[in-house]
Amino acid sequence: MTDHVLVINCGSSSLKFAAIDPRTGVAALTGLAERLGSPEASLSARLGEDRHGVTLAGGGHEAAMRAVLDVLDASGLTTRIGAVGHRVVHGGERFKSSVRIDDAVEAEIDACARLAPLHNPANLIGVRVARRCFPSLPHVAVFDTAFHQSMPAHAYLYAIPHSLYAEHGLRRYGFHGTSHRYVAAEAAQLLGRPLQDCALITAHLGNGASAAAVLNGHSVDTTMGLTPLEGLVMGTRSGDIDPSLVQFIGNALNQSADQVIDLLNRKSGLLGLSGLSNDCRTLQAAAEEGHAGARVALEVFCYRLAKHIAGLSAALPRLDALVFTGGIGENSAWVREQVLARLGLLGFAVDSAANARCVGGVAGPIHAAGSRTVLVVNTNEELLIARDTFALAGV
Ligand code: AMP
Repeated sequence: MTDHVLVINCGSSSLKFAAIDPRTGVAALTGLAERLGSPEASLSARLGEDRHGVTLAGGGHEAAMRAVLDVLDASGLTTRIGAVGHRVVHGGERFKSSVRIDDAVEAEIDACARLAPLHNPANLIGVRVARRCFPSLPHVAVFDTAFHQSMPAHAYLYAIPHSLYAEHGLRRYGFHGTSHRYVAAEAAQLLGRPLQDCALITAHLGNGASAAAVLNGHSVDTTMGLTPLEGLVMGTRSGDIDPSLVQFIGNALNQSADQVIDLLNRKSGLLGLSGLSNDCRTLQAAAEEGHAGARVALEVFCYRLAKHIAGLSAALPRLDALVFTGGIGENSAWVREQVLARLGLLGFAVDSAANARCVGGVAGPIHAAGSRTVLVVNTNEELLIARDTFALAGV
């Protein structure tokens, strides 16, 4: 019986995988191959309570995928895999939903690499290797950007010469689409109303972070832009800045624009502000012990988030719920409380006891009586990829 989907998330030197039953959401197998292409390359997998470790010494993505096949064979799962679902970061304007992969789709994903030069080529390696290793199975691409393709022009256009959009595709695309889509549907269930009749703001707060306005199941605005650098403060990304900073930082540090963009992506955000860590939990503990950098980093993070949530309200005719998700959104009662404290003008107030309860996988409402609705929802991007894959593969 082919009742599982193999979900693949391929990075430049890593390959994350899971065998998921899309009907139950249960992952029979999960694993990660890391440091691919280096002497330390290795794969670890978890099958129920069992853990497997394999060294891949110098092996790349092909070796990792073959090792995944071996683990599937050893666990008796190979014959139960009915399709392979791939996370692909950028689908440009071409992909507005998930799609069955063939050679033409592969070429179009390649063409979108212009917009995501760090991510799409790595995703594509995963697609190509998996299609070679699983030639008889249907393969499906699920895009981070696709959910936001419903944004109206006034939300996706930058106020720059229009020809840059028309001729070069330079516009806001948005990311984390699978997470925003998944938690919007979960929130609708918690609210007990159809997704087609819900006005939501979803805040995905992990190491990367973005918020989205979701109206009747469609994204109408989001905080990330052409790249994931725009919007909220993140673990190592600055989020919004004055674009002139690129020139000023370049002059101050004698760096090229590419180097400055790298600094804004990898050395900024919570890490840059605190000078300590990109990790919210670490910063909360340090702030409690009086670390000034940690405190200010968290304050900027929470303030920027509240400001963007208020801004996204302009995209909606009403607001049925604000939804927190992602590692920080699902676990940091402190961050949620700080953010909601800044949104009193919009009618938000937190129930501290409910807020404290909704951590470590517990979902539910956290607003006080008389407040607008606030929900904590656990995201599951892999499950959404598995569901889309099953639906499109027709298995
Ligand atoms: P993600 O990228 O979704 O895995 O989220 C990672 C982020 O979630 C990191 O900044 C973690 O510090 C943060 N996180 C996880 N658990 C907690 C927690 N209990 N309190 C605060 N932050 C947390």
